Amino acid sequence: MTKIGVLALQGAVREHICQIESLDCEAIAVKTIEDLNCLDGLILPGGESTTMRKLLDRYHLLEPIQTLAQQGIPMFGTCAGLILLAKEITGLKIHHLGLMDVIVERNSFGRQKDSFEVELPIPSIGNDIPAVFIRAPHIVSVGDNVEILATYEKRIVLAKDGQFLGCSFHPELTKDVRVLQYFIDMVNDFTKTSLTKINTK
Ligand code: GLN
Repeated sequence: MTKIGVLALQGAVREHICQIESLDCEAIAVKTIEDLNCLDGLILPGGESTTMRKLLDRYHLLEPIQTLAQQGIPMFGTCAGLILLAKEITGLKIHHLGLMDVIVERNSFGRQKDSFEVELPIPSIGNDIPAVFIRAPHIVSVGDNVEILATYEKRIVLAKDGQFLGCSFHPELTKDVRVLQYFIDMVNDFTKTSLTKINTK
């Protein structure tokens, strides 16, 4: 069974776990280094990125997650999770995991609209994907190998950089599992490719 970890230090953890289980995958709440063992994919949820960074440091998880990424394990960051993944954050001198070749800006959808839901057309997934934005970041610019999968109000809100998928919104706060299914397909493709490599050695 495909094993998907959800970083469980803070934020929208339970909702991701429910969606993962609804797609017949095993969900692991990741709180310690040991929880990272044997994962096929990892989700970094929404919440508050500065708080999550403090907790990543406190529980010594930052480097082990970077090591997991070097092994090619697919990772999906939603909202604050996208900020954790990004190589650069506007206005900040530091990054967090610094894995995905994108520059993100925090809290970019304005105060009055702190929280709203829209239907997004995402050509590679579906043309009516419900997306909840809560004090959401957006992707300001992307590296050469990054695929832009969706925009909203001319801002990039979903992108894929090889093994990394990042979105501004919260797909897990809706009943629609198509974005998660897209990530699980990435995970299953990776698992198949690495098994083929082992078998042909
Ligand atoms: N604004 C938050 C941050 O900068 C992200 C919000 C969210 O994850 N819903 O971390």
